[in-house]
Amino acid sequence: MANNLGLAVKPVTETPESEKKRVAEWINTEEYKELNFKREALVVMPPHTCQPLGAELVAHAFEGSLPFVHGSQGCASYYRSTLNRHFREPAPAVSDSMTEDGAVFGGQNNLHEGLENCIALYKPKMVSVFTSCMPEIIGDDLTSFIKNARNAGLVPEEMPVPYANTPSFNGSHIHGYDAMLLSILQTLTDGKKVEGRCTGKLNLIPGFDANTGNFREYKRIFSEFGIEGLILGDISDVFDSPLDGEYRTYPGGTPLEDAADSINGKATITVGPRSSAKTFKWVEDNYAGTNESMPMPLGIANTDAFLMKIAELTGHEVPESLKAERGRAVDAMTDAHQYIHGKKFAVYGDPDQLMGYISFLLEMGAVPYHVLINKGTKKVAKEVQALLDSSPYGAKATIYHKHDLWHLRSLLMTDPVDAIIGDTHGKGLARDAGIPLFRFGFPIFDRVNLHRRPIIGYQGAINMLTEICNKFLDITDETCDERHFEIMR
Ligand code: SF4
Repeated sequence: MANNLGLAVKPVTETPESEKKRVAEWINTEEYKELNFKREALVVMPPHTCQPLGAELVAHAFEGSLPFVHGSQGCASYYRSTLNRHFREPAPAVSDSMTEDGAVFGGQNNLHEGLENCIALYKPKMVSVFTSCMPEIIGDDLTSFIKNARNAGLVPEEMPVPYANTPSFNGSHIHGYDAMLLSILQTLTDGKKVEGRCTGKLNLIPGFDANTGNFREYKRIFSEFGIEGLILGDISDVFDSPLDGEYRTYPGGTPLEDAADSINGKATITVGPRSSAKTFKWVEDNYAGTNESMPMPLGIANTDAFLMKIAELTGHEVPESLKAERGRAVDAMTDAHQYIHGKKFAVYGDPDQLMGYISFLLEMGAVPYHVLINKGTKKVAKEVQALLDSSPYGAKATIYHKHDLWHLRSLLMTDPVDAIIGDTHGKGLARDAGIPLFRFGFPIFDRVNLHRRPIIGYQGAINMLTEICNKFLDITDETCDERHFEIMR
């Protein structure tokens, strides 16, 4: 074997082809699956990312907000490149690049210098600070570091600097999202509550959602209703800005003034009950108006509930245009049900999305069969089970709580299904199992524009259905014999 300089390289070990073949076949067996499921001290291919990545997503989602990573440069590059690859857009964020001396003496100097530099260079309206593992392990005290920065005049007096501890050895990206959003809202609304004032707006907390199409769809629904809605953490323009020759560091995002006034809103809904749990608890205790937590509007029943809740909270009737859209979605589902009914699926994803996928599959008479909950709590597992129990199509499902994608691979090889719903990380499994992967989650690195097509609402249900059924039809066309190759399907 020669390397790229043409020099001979002696392999450390020689593995005969016959041995490679034996192992490749063995990892598809029941025997291997049993050993794989006995694994305790090792996680292989976990379908989640770390807390600060979620914090960065929401730190981008407010007007003029600059995400600031207190911690390692390499970690910051990881979050940014993950967002870059998913959205194919820039994710301008800064890091105070802690190194060995920061790890020994604490990172206050890095933070102070970083704040001073980024404010001078990038002129943000707000700096949203969160942490990587390193400062969390050494116990850096963000509260006093930022207070000291203000006392030293490194941060303009009026500039908001929300901050969140986002230790990655605990929780996942959805918890980092929640912690950062909570801090942003606490900071911006501080002292803004006015007795008797009502903005008349409906606040929406979308939860961790990396689909810009969903955000545009929420806004379209508000406009169909003729109501003023305010998304708390709006990434639609941030990560889907026009290419017109001008680079904008801070395109879009929820206006800071509106976010500050959101505490005087008419009502607040979260559709990310599990990825904004702490934020919503605080909103319930502090915001004016009615506060409601409900499932992400994936599928017909969840969308019905969402629209009826908007109608109830705002006093506006569900508009005829959305009723007609519902009818079209139900029609599309009826037309296509024979291509998905009874098909078995493996599903995984963030808990809010996962429950939405399951809901949608049950509505279509499809069978969620292997249900992987990688990071959720026991409560989440119980809620998923209750959802499965609500339909006869959920009866064959098994929940694999606290398992990873390598476990799922064993399941796919020993107890096959027709397709997977998840994110790009499932593509190797799909290839090995010879089944399609429907990329509805985060991240999606290997297909274009999927983050632009909504999957929420009635239009989202049509989109998911179209993608799934047409793929099954493609497979039929590609694999059927000549006699069954039909123009009509
Ligand atoms: S898990 Fe910790 S060390 Fe790894 S990228 Fe995330 S913050 Fe950095």
